[in-house]
Amino acid sequence: MLLASWLAMQAVHELGHVLGAWATGGHVERVVLHPLAISRTDVSPNPRPLPVVWSGPLVGTALPLVLWSIAAALHMPGAFVLRFFAGFCLVANGAYLGIGSFWEIGDSGDMLRSGSAPWQLWLFGAITIPLGLMLWHRQGRHFGFGPNARQVDRRTAIICCAVCIVLVLLELLGGESWLLGATCVPSVENYWGVGLHGNFARYDVLLRRYRSLGPSQL
Ligand SMILES: [Zn+2]
Repeated sequence: MLLASWLAMQAVHELGHVLGAWATGGHVERVVLHPLAISRTDVSPNPRPLPVVWSGPLVGTALPLVLWSIAAALHMPGAFVLRFFAGFCLVANGAYLGIGSFWEIGDSGDMLRSGSAPWQLWLFGAITIPLGLMLWHRQGRHFGFGPNARQVDRRTAIICCAVCIVLVLLELLGGESWLLGATCVPSVENYWGVGLHGNFARYDVLLRRYRSLGPSQL
């Protein structure tokens, strides 16, 4: 459950950067998604870096909230899982920006260099972290903890395990390709990314050679 949340949280966060890049005319060079790596989206050229960098945490927190709200409104039996996931994304993204701002880590560093003020990052964390903790509050019973513990629903547990396995496999087989593929932008570059099984170094060399020579000389 935690592993699935960690992987899915990174994927939704990077999806935000990808959407931000497309919306502002940037070109997504690669999305690094791997079970053993911290995810990253490289955008170049990146004409408007500020909205691109903010779109990761914003989509990364808003999209899970929307998914949980829909599931809760429909009274879906596994809605508590999406509630946990939405809380996880809120706490993780909030801590990433709020705490990261002190050391200018990752997105926080990009935001500060692109013109954001530190208080904007702290405000984001001050809103999202308590909201995430609120979503987690008194939810233990669904997971079989505490005095009012319920039997964990078998079907929900199986679906969570399946999602986790699928995420690990997809990321091992080429993290960037499936995210870009999932957002409906097929391209030759993605095809090569899959073909090389995530060996992005070789893929980059091939791609550069391809671009410099032109298709007829490859
Ligand atoms: Zn990011």
